[in-house]
This record gives sequence, C-alpha cells and structure tokens, in this order.
Amino acid sequence: MLEIKNLHVDLEEEDKTILKGVNLSVEAGKVHAIMGPNGSGKSTLSYVLSGRDGYKVTDGAATLEGHDLLDMEPEERAAAGLFLAFQYPVEIPGVGNMTFLRTAVNSQRKARGEEEMSATDFLKMVREKAKTLKIDADMLKRPVNVGFSGGEKKRNEILQMAVLEPKMCILDETDSGLDVDAMKLVAEGVNALRSEGRGFLVITHYQRLLDHIKPDVVHIMADGRIVKTGGPELALEVENNGYADILAEVA
Ligand code: ADP
Ligand code: MG
Ligand code: MG
Repeated sequence: MLEIKNLHVDLEEEDKTILKGVNLSVEAGKVHAIMGPNGSGKSTLSYVLSGRDGYKVTDGAATLEGHDLLDMEPEERAAAGLFLAFQYPVEIPGVGNMTFLRTAVNSQRKARGEEEMSATDFLKMVREKAKTLKIDADMLKRPVNVGFSGGEKKRNEILQMAVLEPKMCILDETDSGLDVDAMKLVAEGVNALRSEGRGFLVITHYQRLLDHIKPDVVHIMADGRIVKTGGPELALEVENNGYADILAEVA
C-alpha cells in the first residue's frame, strides 16, 4: 500500500537534513506504528508524505499503490487515498461540518473521475457512519471543529476518515500527547476502520496508545531513520526501558 524507499529530506529554509534514508512498507490490512524519541523526524515524515511545504526531498521515493506520491499535489494525494490526521485539527468558522464533508468527498470523487454523490445518498452514508462511530448527529450541523472539545475534535477527525474511506491513514499524535479519553477515541476509531484493504501508520511518542490499537508492526525511528522493527513487544520494551537500550544496541 505505502512504500517508502531510502527517503532523504532536508529543510527548505535551512541547510539541515531531517530524514536520512527512511525505508518503510505498510501492507494493506496492517497497522504499523512508529515510535521514537522527540526530534527523530516522525512528524517530518508525515508532513512530507502529505505534501506540506518547507521540505526538500533529496533522495528516495514514496509510493501509494505504486503511484509516485512525491510527484502529486496534496489534494491529488488525498484523492489517491491518503489521509493524514494531525493532533490539532483546524477550526473552520462558517462552514458546517456536513458541507465540509460533502465537499471533501465530492472533490475527491471528481479528481478520480467519479460521479458526485447525491445529497440524499451522502446524508444517508454520513448518518450511518456517525452511528457506527457513536457520533452525535448534532455534531454534523455545527461549524467544523468550532468550539469542539478536544474529544469532539478527535471524534470528528475519525468521522472524516470514515467518510472519505482512505486506503492509507496516517495519524500523527504528536508529543504533547492526548489525554486518556482522547486516546481511547482515536484507538476505537482506528479499530472500527481497520479493514483488509486499508493500511494504517500510527505515529506516537507514547506506548499507551498502542495498548488500545494493537499494531501488527512497530518501528523505532531515531535521527531520521528507522533503526529497529519488530512486533507489538517492541512497544512494551520501550515502555519498560525507554529508548536508551535500543539506541545503544543499534549504534
Ligand atoms: P518528531 O516528530 O519525531 O518529534 P520532528 O519531525 O518534529 O520530530 O523533527 C525532527 C527534527 O527536525 C527536529 O530536530 C526538529 O527540530 C527539526 N525540524 C523539523 N521541522 C523544522 C523546521 N521547520 N525548522 C527547523 N527545524 C525543524
Ligand atoms: Mg517532536
Ligand atoms: Mg512529532
């Protein structure tokens, strides 16, 4: 699903290399987690995959189902099935959640050369998904994320993910962390959306999130590279011993 090969990334503004040869391959149906000390490049990896400005790819490749991601505009990446969730979703005053979701769905359909979804079909689809995710229908009528609690924003992000039906979901739950309730919401959402055709990359500084999302594969990132890969037990090792042992072992 997602294939990253020897990815090297510099900051555009500064002469600084952040990613120093990332290799990673996430299969459909699998949940991969990336953990790693602060500053190791986890967020940079998710930003570069999403097509955010400010980074320069100097070597390597990233493909989604064989299509060159790095060659696409951010919206083309989304239309190709890439979804990125960040810790602090933006608020969009004046735009109703339903309108936002419908616009997102239809612009992706358009980009894929598919027909737009009718208002009736869309409403039905969103209501069903909201119900599955235990999301109050009231939230659908409010402006996007405006005045939402942290938990509601998380729920809304999961709803966006459910409605857009991406093939590859990347969640960067950055360092300042989520409270336990928000973490459970994210985990429940990911677990509800796990499916054979969909890959997940869950980036987290903390092991706790992985208590609720059982990853298939865990990677440790340090200094711009993936330095160790293992099963869920690797996350427990980090929880118990921190990163020091692993970093010493690979040094
Ligand atoms: P992580 O998410 O693993 O904590 P980041 O990807 O946020 O790591 O950061 C990796 C490194 O790149 C850090 O040393 C950080 O300071 C640096 N970095 C990332 N973006 C910028 C930027 N725009 N300007 C300066 N330094 C940056
Ligand atoms: Mg950080
Ligand atoms: Mg980060």
